[in-house]
Amino acid sequence: MKRPLSAEQLAALYDESKEKLPKSERARWLDDRLAAQVSFAYEKAPAVKAKFDKAGVAPSDIKTVKDLEKLPVTTKDELVKLQAQDPPLGGFLAVPLNSLSRVYVSPGPIYDAWGDERVMAAVRGMVRSGWPKPGDVCLVANMYHMVPAGLFITDVLDMIGCTVVPAGIGQTELQVKLLKDLQVSAIFSFPSFVMTILQKAEEMGYDVKKDFNIKYVTGGGERHIQVLRKVFEEKYGLIVGDGYGTADLGTVAYDCGRGEGYHYDDNECVVEIVDPDTGKQVEPMEVGEVVVTLLSNVYPLVRFGTGDLASYVDETCACGRSSPRITKILGMVGEHVRVKGMFVHLRELDEAMSKFQNISKYQLVLKLEGHKDQVQLNVEADDVPDKNQFAEQISARCQDVFKLRMDDVQFLPKGTLPEDYKKFVDTRWG
Ligand SMILES: [Zn+2]
Repeated sequence: MKRPLSAEQLAALYDESKEKLPKSERARWLDDRLAAQVSFAYEKAPAVKAKFDKAGVAPSDIKTVKDLEKLPVTTKDELVKLQAQDPPLGGFLAVPLNSLSRVYVSPGPIYDAWGDERVMAAVRGMVRSGWPKPGDVCLVANMYHMVPAGLFITDVLDMIGCTVVPAGIGQTELQVKLLKDLQVSAIFSFPSFVMTILQKAEEMGYDVKKDFNIKYVTGGGERHIQVLRKVFEEKYGLIVGDGYGTADLGTVAYDCGRGEGYHYDDNECVVEIVDPDTGKQVEPMEVGEVVVTLLSNVYPLVRFGTGDLASYVDETCACGRSSPRITKILGMVGEHVRVKGMFVHLRELDEAMSKFQNISKYQLVLKLEGHKDQVQLNVEADDVPDKNQFAEQISARCQDVFKLRMDDVQFLPKGTLPEDYKKFVDTRWG
């Protein structure tokens, strides 16, 4: 168990004025720390040195966030390979392994080095949001083995001075009993499981608002949080904490409480949204990959690609904070194609097709005619009396959802597409 911090120590962790710096001052604050960070990382982490040397870049070449474009992005797949070549942490660790408080293991498998600084970052986030508070009874309904979920949250709550109920996943009825008997005030889990627990409580005859003491729930880690968030807030009167992070990096962006995107956490890291093909930073509201450089003395990843696609806004938020905000996570790199200058995400294609109950399979095929992109949609569908009319409806729906008209819609006999078919086929480069 980690020892609780005093009220003074907790307050000292968080400096709101830093988050509300005018934009130019914010940029300077970030650039200065980035420059120091890359020098440190180059010196201490052999994999970072190798990355710079291979690109022909010196640490002194990185003076601003924009300068990071000179370096390639390290993908998750590359990290897995580097860890296999140079176990356990691929040459990114800047401290002896046995000085880490935790080593987690994420699917990949990939080792995640967590020093106390990652825990402190999350404590700081909780001080920022004002929840939970010392003395709160917290149900942690997250996995407790391998991954940084349950145990990590427990470490954080210990430092705040909360009482933790390490419930783990499953046993929904028992979770409801714990909520009631222990008068739990905060639930830490993923939103869909929180919803399952609350619905189970209602099935068991409880009134969530009256019979329980729940005030706060978290909503990290799932993309449909914004839908559930409304239900948590409006139906159950709960405060919802939300952030964006990954197992490799910890939390990299946070919701200030307004539910209008995730502020880059300048204290912990440098966030870029970059074109996955070129590695160049994109403009606000353009789609790119979330790429992160940790401001870490323990695990100094430089330009690590999360594989998540997102867009961002750069206007000062109504909360007064000046860091840009990730608007939302749109999908995964690899689950998108770019055609006619547009991104199409698998999720959007799924969304467009979900309107047509009679379509069982669909596949977007990208071809080149001359130098022009051509988009063909293959579908397997039942009951199509008028193919031309239906093709027109499908094309209009695609335009509505992802701003792209189909050049051609082909109706395939059922069973033409094999079970393991790909929804995107790009023949333009082959
Ligand atoms: Zn804000």
